[in-house]
Amino acid sequence: MADHKYEKWIQKDDAIIDGIDVSGEWNKMYEPREIMNYDLTYMDKITDLDGGESMGWCYQCAQCIGVCPVDNVGSYGPRKIYRNLQTGQNLFEHPDLWLCTTCSNCLRVCPKEVDMMKIMPAAREQAVLDGNVPAELQDMLQNVAEYGNPMGESARKRVRWLRKFDEPVRDLSKEENPQPVDVLWYVSDYFSFHGRGNDAAKSMVRVFNRLGVDFGILGKEEKCDGDSQRLVGETGLFEELAEHNGAQFEKYEHNKLVVSDPHAYNAFKNFYPKVTNKEYNVQHYTQFLAEQIDDLTTLMKQPYPKKVTFHDPCYLGRHNGEYNAPRTLINAIPGIDFMEMFRCKEQGYCCGGGGGGMWLDGLVADHTSERLSENRVKEAIEVGAEVLAVCCPYEVSRFEDAVKSTNNDGKLEVIDIIEILDYCIDNGDGS
Ligand code: SF4
Ligand code: SF4
Repeated sequence: MADHKYEKWIQKDDAIIDGIDVSGEWNKMYEPREIMNYDLTYMDKITDLDGGESMGWCYQCAQCIGVCPVDNVGSYGPRKIYRNLQTGQNLFEHPDLWLCTTCSNCLRVCPKEVDMMKIMPAAREQAVLDGNVPAELQDMLQNVAEYGNPMGESARKRVRWLRKFDEPVRDLSKEENPQPVDVLWYVSDYFSFHGRGNDAAKSMVRVFNRLGVDFGILGKEEKCDGDSQRLVGETGLFEELAEHNGAQFEKYEHNKLVVSDPHAYNAFKNFYPKVTNKEYNVQHYTQFLAEQIDDLTTLMKQPYPKKVTFHDPCYLGRHNGEYNAPRTLINAIPGIDFMEMFRCKEQGYCCGGGGGGMWLDGLVADHTSERLSENRVKEAIEVGAEVLAVCCPYEVSRFEDAVKSTNNDGKLEVIDIIEILDYCIDNGDGS
């Protein structure tokens, strides 16, 4: 045999098959080379976790890669995570553990039901227990544990946005003998503490009041809903928050919980019952208002003649199947020119804030070519929109930052749907 690089091959020096001379090199066959001789310790550790089982079901069809928003700006997706685990990677100590935004787009297309929404929290919980948490996320978790909100603000500052605000709002935590309300409005962290969130919160109050909604808030007794903390693996903290908020929902009699935040909606509807053994009659504000569309339409007199597109929040849309309520509100806005982006509804793109991404911009920036929010803002501009309408409190701040960082200042306004409704009502009837 001639000199050769590989040991494991066979070759017949003389071979004629069907009259064709395939001697020597032409019939060389390599023996199967070992491609699975890797350490599967970490694959086994993931699939052994409660919730991690489905990682082992992947059969590498790659359907997930095309729809993964992180792969769109980097190299990611369940298939790649599976393959890396298969070749011995320790996911528990790898940045890939934190890049998934739990947007659920891969699960939508996966024929094997590989479920990152269960795998990621399970694997992250282990990383949290081992102390392998990115510093920026650790700060957020500490703030929530200590203060009940990711910003690290004191509980009494939760209602600071109500100062110098003339509209009536019942803060139930301040009432000596609180009477029942029809709607208990869970304001949420970003609406309570973030400047632009405060704008939307005030709009919500004005719209509620114009509609005559009997509502109250928890004030200083409200705490973070905990859904993002659950998704980054802080199960204990999530349970504490669920117990705390669940107790407030019990304390203040109401017919309906209305939330500003799709993450809170997801938590109260799907995950609090597992902790508190109670079901919650909860609606996202777009659902609550969509039920009153006739009254709203009557109130909205001021036209809003702008080109508007809408970003579906993953936790309202894909996670909970609500695509119509926000569109019902948008389509009722007088004078609006509404246009969909290419990636919308079930296929909506992710803003990057879910699954803890809200507090991982530094780590994500190190492993992607651009932020997901930047990618989305460019799409909104490409479709010809002047306004990007949203209905998740994370998104105004995320997309406003992205407008600036992509040098699109002045080209795209980011605004919560509730602010548009408020504009059309308050400027329309002069009330
Ligand atoms: S879609 Fe599912 S089965 Fe296919 S590669 Fe992705 S995770 Fe694996
Ligand atoms: S949940 Fe979303 S971000 Fe995470 S892997 Fe699946 S598609 Fe990618």
